[in-house]
Amino acid sequence: MGTASDIKLIDENNIRLDGRGPDELRPIKIETNVLNRADGSSFIEWGGNKIMVAVYGPREAYPKHNQDINKAIVKARYNMAAFSVDERKRPGPDRRSVEISKVVSEALEAAIMVELFPRAQIDVFIEVLQADAGTRIAGLTAASVAVAAAGIPMRDMVVGCTAGKVGNKIVLDLSKEEDNFGQADLPMGILPKSDRVVLMQMDGDLSVEEFEQATSMIMKATKRIAQIQREALTKKYEIQQKEQGE
Ligand code: UDP
Repeated sequence: MGTASDIKLIDENNIRLDGRGPDELRPIKIETNVLNRADGSSFIEWGGNKIMVAVYGPREAYPKHNQDINKAIVKARYNMAAFSVDERKRPGPDRRSVEISKVVSEALEAAIMVELFPRAQIDVFIEVLQADAGTRIAGLTAASVAVAAAGIPMRDMVVGCTAGKVGNKIVLDLSKEEDNFGQADLPMGILPKSDRVVLMQMDGDLSVEEFEQATSMIMKATKRIAQIQREALTKKYEIQQKEQGE
């Protein structure tokens, strides 16, 4: 969260700097099968975020001491390209990317039927090419589509979304300015069929009422995002069917 600022992030008519209302999402577009050599892949554009995901596996986990005899391990690696942000990002992992990789791995593991693949590993590479706030939840949303596109059995999809507090109001899907200068940011990952929460982090402070308002806004939005995920996967299936028919 940024420091106190004079920027007015939301006006008296509840209109935000980019023209959105409090519960409006930025535009979201997802494509699948964008990389030939991955088992599954996806590309998401969410507002100004552009993120590529490649999935490999399940394959035998290596080194062997990493293997779990009861289930597959899910290894997500979140990486931000040096050119993805305004100020060049130093290449390679940092504390933030290690943390995001961990929470995204855990969220995906809750959705994947890992018990079907003992001793295996599923690798999920999340490459942020352009960052515009909310990259962890956009990356998670795209990763879930790429895992499904790889044909890996899942209990449910994982949908990510954020809500937060700007100008003392609760709003959905924070923009870059709102993320930098707002009062709170709450990224969440949800399994939309059961509404189970598989990722939750919070930056800043929310009262209990504000937290409830933010989570209910996110829950509603996840249904819309899940529909976009389904459409991306159906499109992939239709293209495959057409190719097989030719
Ligand atoms: N950001 C940046 N440089 C960095 C890390 C983040 O410019 O090294 C920007 C980027 O646009 C990112 C935003 O700050 O999307 C918010 O970062 P945060 O850590 O809140 O994670 P995110 O919202 O992307 O999940």
